[in-house]
Amino acid sequence: MGWLATLFDRYGRPLTNLRIMVTGRCNFSCFFCHMEGYHESRLAKEELSLEEIDILHEAASRLGVKAYKITGGEPTIRGDLTRIVEILASDGSYVSMTTNASLLHRHLPRLVEAGLRHINVSLHALSREAFRRITGADMLDRVLVNLRLARDYGLPIKINFVVLKGLNENDIEKVIELAAELGAMVQFIELHPVGKAAKRFREHHLPRWRVLEKLDPRIVEIKYRVGLHNRPILLLDNGVRVEIVGPVGNYLFCAACTRVRVTYDFKLLPCLNWRGAPVPVRPRLAKAATREEKVSAVVEALREVNALREPYVKFPLKAPFTIPRRRWGTARLGLPKRDGSLRFTGPRARLHEELAAKEWGGYLA
Ligand code: SAM
Repeated sequence: MGWLATLFDRYGRPLTNLRIMVTGRCNFSCFFCHMEGYHESRLAKEELSLEEIDILHEAASRLGVKAYKITGGEPTIRGDLTRIVEILASDGSYVSMTTNASLLHRHLPRLVEAGLRHINVSLHALSREAFRRITGADMLDRVLVNLRLARDYGLPIKINFVVLKGLNENDIEKVIELAAELGAMVQFIELHPVGKAAKRFREHHLPRWRVLEKLDPRIVEIKYRVGLHNRPILLLDNGVRVEIVGPVGNYLFCAACTRVRVTYDFKLLPCLNWRGAPVPVRPRLAKAATREEKVSAVVEALREVNALREPYVKFPLKAPFTIPRRRWGTARLGLPKRDGSLRFTGPRARLHEELAAKEWGGYLA
């Protein structure tokens, strides 16, 4: 079978990006974990095998998928993680991983050699006590050591910091300084009311614009990421780049979603917020005899889940923009384009678009 065209959903959003839970097991127990939107009460015995990942990769690449995010559970629990990266990166795709980093030392530097392009390291507190309260694990020191190890092996780092009202607001400045020391980026992530977070959302949710307000005195420039969630990228006065991941009620975010999620027991989810049944892949594989039939079965499953994709938050007519007003002079936004990227308007639109595309155009995950 030859290459097929990229899939678009009925809102014109391309599917370029798979987020793969390679395991459901985790050595931390973060009280707000969204479990990647997959809420099975019992862990499946059989996690995605290397053969399944290989078939998934071939099917997805035929549909134009170019970026993979490895997640979990905690992916570093898997002993064959390096092989997973090798398989996904074998066609030059952009492969990254989100991890709590506590076991990262077991896999470095092989992960880098296998083609891993960057890691997102979850780090939501910089004091031992707060770290333990949030994650249930007394492993802050180990995580900090492993962050430096990753830096020393030349692995680009993004720090994922979920902002939690009353718990870690005071660490925002500290994490920015740590990022400067490590040459890392920071993602400030708005708490999302999914999974375990639903119960404690009101107590700990800090809206993304409050984070922007806190950072405002240090912002030198704001750009927007082309290709994923229209995320604002802030350049701070110490040279650190900060991405604001603010999904809650954010139609700009959903307008540029390019993802589908794969669960550790090989089901497909169209969105973190999906409440329906996932699309199961294994029953289809069981009916396929040859390798080609298996790849075709996964292509069909991907088509099926793509048909279920739609923005969780849709564009409400006449709604005010949620980006900071005072930047409108340089980054005025129109409705997102059909491919989900931003359309800049106003006198500097072309310049802004060129700059954004130059900087972020080839950067997909
Ligand atoms: N164990 C890995 C880790 O800690 O990065 C991967 C799985 S974890 C579910 C993936 C990312 O989702 C982490 O950065 C985590 O902090 C973030 N996350 C989990 N629950 C969240 C929530 N309710 N709202 C926002 N982000 C969340």
